[in-house]
Amino acid sequence: MDYWHIKNKGLFDSFKLEINKNYPTLVVSIADNLVYIKGTIRIKDDKNIVLDSFQIEIKVPYNFPQEIPEVRETGNKIPLNKDRHLDEQNGIACLCFKDEVFLFWSEKSTITDFMKIFVEPFFLWQIEYEVSGGQNKDKAYAHGQDGALQFYKEILNIDDKKAVYKFVEYLTKKKIKGHWNCYCGSGQKMRDCHFDLMKKYKGQIRTKDAKKTFDSFKQVFNKTK
Ligand SMILES: [Zn+2]
Ligand SMILES: [Zn+2]
Repeated sequence: MDYWHIKNKGLFDSFKLEINKNYPTLVVSIADNLVYIKGTIRIKDDKNIVLDSFQIEIKVPYNFPQEIPEVRETGNKIPLNKDRHLDEQNGIACLCFKDEVFLFWSEKSTITDFMKIFVEPFFLWQIEYEVSGGQNKDKAYAHGQDGALQFYKEILNIDDKKAVYKFVEYLTKKKIKGHWNCYCGSGQKMRDCHFDLMKKYKGQIRTKDAKKTFDSFKQVFNKTK
């Protein structure tokens, strides 16, 4: 396998420097050819006051930055369940709905970007959850299928499930064609309707992620038909 930190030594060097500089309470290490970041993360508010800190373990995938790392909270401070967006079995934090990742992430993103975009907001949300007794629940998409639907309804600004299914189905295609009927159900060809929006998200949401989502939609759709 092509391990990113071996193949791209320059990138790994700057990765280590960034963590040392920006997160001195975290340590970079390697085990079984994978890069890990372990230690304490301090979560601050917008006035730079530390609100709380968490023990974390970040596992960087072999093909970073094509894929984002996995994050676990290792101090048993947060219960593992769907409401808290931590997987009950493997403890992995669901930092972001997978189809949404590449709206914020690209292969040029750095580990500091990862911390700022995904990790810090995740733990800040956990602190807010604790303080408010879960009142901030709706600020994150629900876990799983419902969250997927929420996400697509929001980005399309549409409340129609069928339109969402159609849109995601189009995202699974290799190429989007302007002469297809628009996903929104207007009866118009896409090039005369929502083609720009379609193309925008086709460029940001990976086909493989859309395929997984579409499969999960299909299962539910077939059951409720
Ligand atoms: Zn989740
Ligand atoms: Zn349309």
